[in-house]
Amino acid sequence: MAIWFLRGLRRGVVTTRYPAQAEPSAHLLPTPPTFDPRRLTRAVAVAVAECCPSGALTMDGAVLVLDIGACSACGRCVAAGGGAARRSGLFELAATERQHLVKRIPIAGDRR
Ligand code: SF4
Repeated sequence: MAIWFLRGLRRGVVTTRYPAQAEPSAHLLPTPPTFDPRRLTRAVAVAVAECCPSGALTMDGAVLVLDIGACSACGRCVAAGGGAARRSGLFELAATERQHLVKRIPIAGDRR
């Protein structure tokens, strides 16, 4: 703790202004994925669901279901999803009801 205190004195800043101001390091945070339905094919949806270590991604017919409450923001689906998945950059994810953390993404990439 003494090291952090001394480092703060030396740098002059020990905390950020968040939430009063935007968090400048937010782009560095691991965040849950977001999916582009137009690029999401069934093959990609199956691949991302199979690579998810926490079971946050599941298939439900022609829909990919993302349970943000179970997501550990590991980024494996982003790596496996090609252009259909990217990190959302969202980290203010609190919800008052569990179902608000579950997103249903239609698989529209096969229709093109
Ligand atoms: S970031 Fe990781 S835990 Fe979250 S949905 Fe993608 S693969 Fe699953």
